[in-house]
Amino acid sequence: MLTERVSNIKGIGNKMENDLQDIGIYTIEDLLFYFPFRYDFHEVKPLMELTHNEKATIVGKVVSEPSLSYFGRRKSRLTVTLEVDGIAIKAVLFNQAFAKKHIVRGEYITVTGKWDQHRLQITVNQFKAGKQEDDGSIQGIYSVKGNMTMNRLRKAMEFAVEEYADDVKEILPKKYLVEYKLPARSESVRFMHFPPNSTLLKHAKRRFIYEELLLFQLKMQLLRKRIKESVVGSEKEFNDQKVMQFKHHLPFPLTSAQEKALTEILEDLQSPYRMNRLLQGDVGSGKTIVAAIGLYAAVTAGKQGALMVPTEILAEQHYESLSKLFSDFVKVELLTGSVKGKKRVELLNRVEQGKVDIVVGTHALIQDDVQFADLGFVIVDEQHRFGVEQRRVLREKGLKPDVLFMTATPIPRTLAISAFGDLDVSVIDEMPQGRKPVETYWAKPNKFDRVMQFIQKEVDKGHQAYMICPLIEESDKLDIQNAVDLYELLQQHFPPNVKLGLMHGRLHSDEKDDVMKKFAQGEIDVLVSTTVVEVGVNVPNATVMVIYDADRFGLSQLHQLRGRVGRGDAQSYCILLADPKGDTGKERMRIMQETTDGFELSEQDLKLRGPGDFFGKKQSGLPEFKVADIVEDYRALETARKDAVDLIRTNKLFEQPELQLLRRIIENDPMLKDAILD
Ligand code: ADP
Ligand code: MG
Repeated sequence: MLTERVSNIKGIGNKMENDLQDIGIYTIEDLLFYFPFRYDFHEVKPLMELTHNEKATIVGKVVSEPSLSYFGRRKSRLTVTLEVDGIAIKAVLFNQAFAKKHIVRGEYITVTGKWDQHRLQITVNQFKAGKQEDDGSIQGIYSVKGNMTMNRLRKAMEFAVEEYADDVKEILPKKYLVEYKLPARSESVRFMHFPPNSTLLKHAKRRFIYEELLLFQLKMQLLRKRIKESVVGSEKEFNDQKVMQFKHHLPFPLTSAQEKALTEILEDLQSPYRMNRLLQGDVGSGKTIVAAIGLYAAVTAGKQGALMVPTEILAEQHYESLSKLFSDFVKVELLTGSVKGKKRVELLNRVEQGKVDIVVGTHALIQDDVQFADLGFVIVDEQHRFGVEQRRVLREKGLKPDVLFMTATPIPRTLAISAFGDLDVSVIDEMPQGRKPVETYWAKPNKFDRVMQFIQKEVDKGHQAYMICPLIEESDKLDIQNAVDLYELLQQHFPPNVKLGLMHGRLHSDEKDDVMKKFAQGEIDVLVSTTVVEVGVNVPNATVMVIYDADRFGLSQLHQLRGRVGRGDAQSYCILLADPKGDTGKERMRIMQETTDGFELSEQDLKLRGPGDFFGKKQSGLPEFKVADIVEDYRALETARKDAVDLIRTNKLFEQPELQLLRRIIENDPMLKDAILD
């Protein structure tokens, strides 16, 4: 039986059982699903049969002198040309300088690594002098702990696979196995451990990648379904005609992307299920106006709305634009920490009595002493972590409104469906007409004087500029020192009629707001700042954004900073000051110059940084997979999502006897068990 303890396996004694338990292996089934983390290939295929990015072993004749170069203190790159099947290819070895003396012109070597079909190049992880015998074998490499050795684990695994692999039961629907040509589960387990050849290994991996992603998507989709169905009866009967009228009185027509997002939001409002939606769109793509129409719709249904933003200054800006938009037929109020005393008490009273339709404010809005008469719709703007926390706060207050999250940080589609699988997503992927894209230039820091001249020229035209300070390691303190230094340097550089402002994280929030207000009102021409200026502020007259050490920011953050300019009618510019050492930094600068599309940038960012880094390490919120890779396997992820939706929608998951095992696995998942769903 698969549920037996691993010690029932020949060759696993008490000591080894303890070591296995340390890595989470208790039962025979656990052991069978402990897959190698990589494989050594002793299979040599002809060059012609290799595919791009395949891991391969190649035997070649050395036809050039190996060339070794160092960069940094410890990093090295060794390259050599090999002749294989009459073709010259390049082998590249990073940080394996010692290999040089074993690579002799005219002799053979065997290299294993990733094959680049386009450049006819192999990036080598392992090499061996001489011709390796092609015995066709592939050996799984496991990670081992404690006193356990690879050999003993492999022996035990051989026994386990021999005796028990056939007991592994299929859990996937037959239909998909056939459609995607996936091998059976038991066979796949066998081949993951002891692959007879690389093709069979590839299919076994493909199967488990799909299985893992399907399980994940089923969980997410079930969670999402339960959240939605947790509040039934939240339908809002808004006044269609009024909403249409309002839309038609806007000074511009909505873009078709805006129309689509608006339709999705209005449908959610009307449906009996609770809205739990993410609205994504680049800075300036017109999210706010869409949100405003949604708020208005809720108001015509007799509900109150709330718009939450991260800072007071943003709250004020949104308050002003909403007040203008709604003139006097909707009562909008601003509630921030600066509203104090009698005024606050009076305002809270009116909110509680339902005399205020829409409240704009910071997060304190739903947290503190605020009571709503009938809060029906909450919009959360520019939050990097969505959902869970806000839902908790709302629930604790006994509120179950429709919730819309907005973000200007485009999240790659591939990540969105895994990270926010429990949210519906609307995307505004189109800019209003007539926008001038920000022109972006990359300059070396030694061009500082010319950049200053450029800023001066723009200021003379009546425009304003941001200068984002150099970054110093991880220290916030030093960054501030830098901001102060740069500020002082600029004071000497510019004539006195250029007014400078300084902004950094250590300023008190009143002081920050004060500086930002002065900048917004044009009393400051050039704002020197650390990256605190990043979020949502709107100063249409600012036309220049200079970013120091630009290569040290991620693409998404650079794009976010660049989004501070280009908000008015004048042509705007973004200048990236950087002298990147590494390839990644240079690549980033190149991409920034070439594209202004936030979604495209986010996809590129993901490629350069990897999913863990994309959201920041601490709170990536991304699932960890054993076999699958959410970036490389995104097509499988999309397929799995589609299939999961179908299995749930058609009730097959709950009804088909064939899927009983699959159902049990999902229902026992802690994520679904613990989810508080009221
Ligand atoms: P976001 O919130 O996505 O950054 P906003 O909603 O603040 O963008 O819109 C940016 C600017 O573009 C605002 O001044 C807004 O009035 C304007 N705008 C929004 N939608 C359109 C449109 N369809 N056509 C023209 N201008 C628009
Ligand atoms: Mg906005």
